Amino acid sequence: MSFKPISEIGEFGLIEQLSAIAAPTIKNAPGLVEGIGDDCAVYRTGGPTVQVATTDLLVEQVHFDLLTTPMHHLGSKAISVNVSDICAMNAEPRYALVSIAVPRNVPVEMIEELYRGMAHAASRYGVAIAGGDTSSSPSGLTISVTMTGETTQERLALRKGARPGEIICVTGTLGGSAAGLKVLLREKAMMLEQLRNNEPYNKDVMAELKEYTGAIRCHLLPEARHDTIRFFRDSNIVPTSMIDISDGLTSDLGHICRRSGVGAHIEEARIPVMPDARAIAEEFQEDALTWALSGGEDYQLLFTLPKGRYDDIAGNRDISVIGTITEAEEGLLLTDIYGMTIDLADTEGGFDHFRQ
Ligand code: ADP
Ligand code: MG
Repeated sequence: MSFKPISEIGEFGLIEQLSAIAAPTIKNAPGLVEGIGDDCAVYRTGGPTVQVATTDLLVEQVHFDLLTTPMHHLGSKAISVNVSDICAMNAEPRYALVSIAVPRNVPVEMIEELYRGMAHAASRYGVAIAGGDTSSSPSGLTISVTMTGETTQERLALRKGARPGEIICVTGTLGGSAAGLKVLLREKAMMLEQLRNNEPYNKDVMAELKEYTGAIRCHLLPEARHDTIRFFRDSNIVPTSMIDISDGLTSDLGHICRRSGVGAHIEEARIPVMPDARAIAEEFQEDALTWALSGGEDYQLLFTLPKGRYDDIAGNRDISVIGTITEAEEGLLLTDIYGMTIDLADTEGGFDHFRQ
């Protein structure tokens, strides 16, 4: 028997293969509305509402670095990224189960601080932390949060449901998280260099970080767009499809297109790149648009609406219309600011855990 490295099929290829193995289990689940493939699983329990559930892992050295991540922020992020997936279904978050694997040498105070961050974020979103599991860990800290939410059949928004001619919308700004990470990694490298050279830590370096606060915040302390879900409810809007941007605009728009059986055409000039990200990209001689398209971890909502509902969102300055849904054959296209149209399938796309 030969063994295939996971990098050959990537994260999404692996999920697809595992999903095929799990498929027979779904046969005995008549209440399951959506299984693997959306931001949350969707199921009915007999009442008037539909339930949604999601889970997200934060692994030390994969998702965070303790040198650059305050515990309180990490706890808040662990809750927010799950609330973000619940919001992507147009649902209200309800309960969380929190599991942690902690190295033996980690002090109690650190985990308490992590929990204070979680409790603080959970209270703001109206989420109750209702259980979990605790283990020691031989290598690094791991946090796994599972969250449930609730909505109605009429308000439920899936990744599938986008139709040609509809408008593509995104909340907030993009690229901030990738820009913040860049700054933090440079800071870490400088700090380690000073330590190696036995130099005293230069406090001015931290002072200089002030101008990057916005982007660093995007990375360390993302907020789920719970406010947008409330706006949808108050304005009687139900997106025809929706996803939260965790992997990057290209990759996540790709998920909507694949699940809906459509294509998409977006315009660079309409993509709301975070101004701080532009400034940081200039300093690092990198491209802020690339961060917006494939940096990921911005946790904004990407959704589609019939053209006729444009007026409903036109007054919301926090929502940008970035393009139009097309027929599947058109693929995933981007027209740049010079009028050149490129196929996003030829670009790098978003984050994949197993690709090099
Ligand atoms: P998101 O970025 O919204 O959290 P992911 O890309 O992590 O979504 O996952 C895509 C889909 O695959 C989701 O429906 C998720 O529940 C499912 N999934 C991911 N990993 C596994 C796994 N190991 N077993 C079963 N389903 C999985
Ligand atoms: Mg998601």
